[in-house]
Amino acid sequence: MLRGVNRSFMLGLALLWAAAGAASYRVKPGDTLSGIAARAGLSVAQVQAANPRLQGSALQAGWVLTLPERPVQGRRYTVQRGENLTVIAARAGVTLGALLKANPQYQGGKAVLAGATLTIPSAASAARSGTVTVRPAATGGPRPWLWPVPGYQGVSSGYGERDLHGDTEMHYGIDISAPHGTRVLASRSGRVLEARADFERGWGWTVVLEHPDGWITRYAHLSATLVKAGELVVQGQLVGRVGSTGRTTGPHLHFGTYLRWDPRDPLSLLR
Ligand SMILES: [Zn+2]
Repeated sequence: MLRGVNRSFMLGLALLWAAAGAASYRVKPGDTLSGIAARAGLSVAQVQAANPRLQGSALQAGWVLTLPERPVQGRRYTVQRGENLTVIAARAGVTLGALLKANPQYQGGKAVLAGATLTIPSAASAARSGTVTVRPAATGGPRPWLWPVPGYQGVSSGYGERDLHGDTEMHYGIDISAPHGTRVLASRSGRVLEARADFERGWGWTVVLEHPDGWITRYAHLSATLVKAGELVVQGQLVGRVGSTGRTTGPHLHFGTYLRWDPRDPLSLLR
């Protein structure tokens, strides 16, 4: 009985895949193989495997390529401005892991840009797989804020009024002490607003992220910025490294949080 059910289920899957079939695409001037593959939600290797003429010769406008159907059941989705994988996964009711499994080209922290095509696995097909789980609704989802410097909890200067060289000034953030080069992670998913040297205001090398609900996070005094403006990042993604650039006395991360640019104490959010 069970075996029979499984066989008809597998046959149904095979028919679905066969019905979906492969698409063809005529190469336009200026197209790149990686661009065509990304728009189709495929890897370059998958496109090459389906088109033997691509092995060892350059892509030419006018060629008709076969774009194989992805072997993941689901629907296609075009990424909109300001969206990221976490938001898309949550809205589709699947885990980030399931979404990444259906779109392996984004594994390893690669940012997803507006206009890219994703395969959204159905919640049912994600649940059928042995390696991914659908998060129960009761857990309340991922942590809203992630401590941006893993392993370093020491705050050398808190939020609020402070005395600096005899002057009183407001410190709109917290200073987290950590060695030069320590990894700095995105506290939340969002979009890169700034990734630049901001020495005029003393921030040094700085990353600023904006998050979908109006929150903004600042990561300052970095030794390296590892994202670029406009890029979408997921919570926990490496965005920079601790340094002492700008107005500092030693290596630390200045972490600032703002709600629509109204500064708030990060510790009230993180703890
Ligand atoms: Zn600071």
